[in-house]
Amino acid sequence: MDMKTTRAPYQQRVKLEEEISTIIKSIPEIDINQPVCPFCNAPQPIIIPNAGTNDHGLRKYCDCMEMQDYLKQNHKLRELKEQLKIAQQREDFQRKWAEKMFEESGVGKRFLTASFEYFERQRMPKAYDIALGFAESFDKNDGEGLLFTGDVGTGKTHLAAAIATKIIRKNSATVEFVSYTEVLTDIKAAFSNHSEEAYLLEERMRKADLLVIDDLGKEKPSPFTNELFYRVVNVRYKDKLPMIITSNYGVESLSERLNYSVFSRLVAICRVIEMRGIDYRMKDYLC
Ligand SMILES: [Zn+2]
Repeated sequence: MDMKTTRAPYQQRVKLEEEISTIIKSIPEIDINQPVCPFCNAPQPIIIPNAGTNDHGLRKYCDCMEMQDYLKQNHKLRELKEQLKIAQQREDFQRKWAEKMFEESGVGKRFLTASFEYFERQRMPKAYDIALGFAESFDKNDGEGLLFTGDVGTGKTHLAAAIATKIIRKNSATVEFVSYTEVLTDIKAAFSNHSEEAYLLEERMRKADLLVIDDLGKEKPSPFTNELFYRVVNVRYKDKLPMIITSNYGVESLSERLNYSVFSRLVAICRVIEMRGIDYRMKDYLC
């Protein structure tokens, strides 16, 4: 799906609702079904085409500009309402589809509550605002991603998952959310078993509208996984597809833990956001 040319049903619905609300405000609240025109007082007879039948006839509305304008506006309003109905159906369909995508994305059950609503903004206001801004303007994204680095438990994964959740729901984008450690283990096992799964995972990582890699650098990569990540990162770099990375390591340490070609591309296309502070997961136990 081409994010840049397709207007999401959500945006279309909101736009139509705005147009409808504007047009409703501009239409005067009057009863036009009167014997005289409410604008200019000219007579508005009821035309009965077949006298003697049960046909109740139609009122002949006035020809004056105000009445014609009123009728035009009403016609437009009916059309917009029809379009709105279709947009709502599309949005509903998209929501169901997004739920399915969400289940398949790997954001997983673990992150079901990892939305922006559940993140206390005041703990990490800057990181929160950047993350939210990224998610909200995702359809205009030109390949720039985010790299959240910093201490354990500052909410890096939470923000990454919140972004993923928001753009799946709002933009029906395809998201691949992977744990770095799991990819290393899974894909290696799959490749050595000649399983198709490894190729499929790599394919999804290359092509998803958004790729999230959680806990980058946790394990030292082997030459094999370096190769894999290089292929993925390089394709995404060239295709301007954004990535969100979280890592407990700072940029400096990451440069030592990753292959240089991978590292240099990542920092070229990801905005680095440092998150320092007390363990977010521990906050409930602290006074
Ligand atoms: Zn009139």
